[in-house]
Amino acid sequence: MAEESSRPNTFIIDGAVPLRSAVATESFEVDLTPPDSIQDNNRQPAFPSDMDHPGVSTPPQRLSGAFEEVSPPPSPEASVPSRPTSMTTFPGSGSNASELRPIDEVRQVALEFPRDGPPPRVCDVMPKLGGRTRFRFGGRCITGPSRVDTKFNLFTWAAILAPSAFYFSECTEFLWNISPYIPIATVVLLIACVCFLLLTSCTDPGIIPRYSLRLCVEGLEEQVAVATGCQDIPLDIVSGTRNEQQMVTLEGRGYRWCAFCKMVQPPRAKHCRDCDCCILRNDHHCPFVNNCVGQRNYLYFCLFLASICCLGTSVFTGIGLWANAAPGGVSSSLKTTVLSVIVVPTGLVLLAVLALSLWHLALILRGRTTREVLTGRIYGEGATLFSERGPALIDGTREVHFPGGA
Ligand SMILES: [Zn+2]
Ligand SMILES: [Zn+2]
Repeated sequence: MAEESSRPNTFIIDGAVPLRSAVATESFEVDLTPPDSIQDNNRQPAFPSDMDHPGVSTPPQRLSGAFEEVSPPPSPEASVPSRPTSMTTFPGSGSNASELRPIDEVRQVALEFPRDGPPPRVCDVMPKLGGRTRFRFGGRCITGPSRVDTKFNLFTWAAILAPSAFYFSECTEFLWNISPYIPIATVVLLIACVCFLLLTSCTDPGIIPRYSLRLCVEGLEEQVAVATGCQDIPLDIVSGTRNEQQMVTLEGRGYRWCAFCKMVQPPRAKHCRDCDCCILRNDHHCPFVNNCVGQRNYLYFCLFLASICCLGTSVFTGIGLWANAAPGGVSSSLKTTVLSVIVVPTGLVLLAVLALSLWHLALILRGRTTREVLTGRIYGEGATLFSERGPALIDGTREVHFPGGA
């Protein structure tokens, strides 16, 4: 579909596109002349708490679809004024000169995959478009970055399994004679603890796909719009340009601009610097579970805290009973070893987990996230634990189809 254009700095976008758009079959020209002034869009505006909160009155139109470049490749600093009704690049707005536009990122990544091969999947493409989230098991599992989290995550597993192993290998017979329900309950708690830890670690916490990924996964832009309440907000996902006038309106509704992902961020979402992606209702990044804790895995995280508190109490108490009253007696040297290697560290970890659990109980009762309380920046209201998780916007198994010409 490509054709030569005699006009320099002209980029024709052919909108034969799969995404929802009132202009899906239109073709239109975009002037790539750099704006008069380009400013650093890493600036994070303050939340205008006293401004009016008008809705976005412009009709919903979203850019998407197949794109064909018919002129020399645009310079990275080029700004792309979009739909004249709502996506005009306003004076003072513009891309960071050192950053690629989402469509350019997609073009670069597309070169890494053979055109005649099977379509790549999200788990293959997303790491190349940004973010340190890792996919496992063919994209069915999402977890956090490995760089720092691994040792903390290993500590969590060791803190759960080491005392439990000692408990079941040495204390079970003694406790079984007191009541079989004691070791049986501990087994159930251990299984629950491991399951909730795995669910917290391997569940999408609520990652918001970047514009570049939305451009090449069919229907993703519509899903993100629904999940983030952006159905009525025309976003320029092709150029990823910050629209200053639009942001003034959106900030009144709790939306912000993520300078890292270069996209509009819904209320209560927060960029995680560890994962390098925006997370819906981001609570915090937890290296001990090797994942962010956000809207979609907060329930699992709370259940993990509850189960590990119960498991720790059960193991701590069981080992204490065994050490003090085991028939035949426990030698003093073994007692000292057990106390110093198992009981004291387990007790300290248990105290820390109990304190963390009480902290999150208070947060749940207040309807706040950890980030909101620690930073004092409140961008939204509502329940945390007892709200909808919403669908996963990142599915590592979905096929990626690069826009035509990319
Ligand atoms: Zn972000
Ligand atoms: Zn994170």
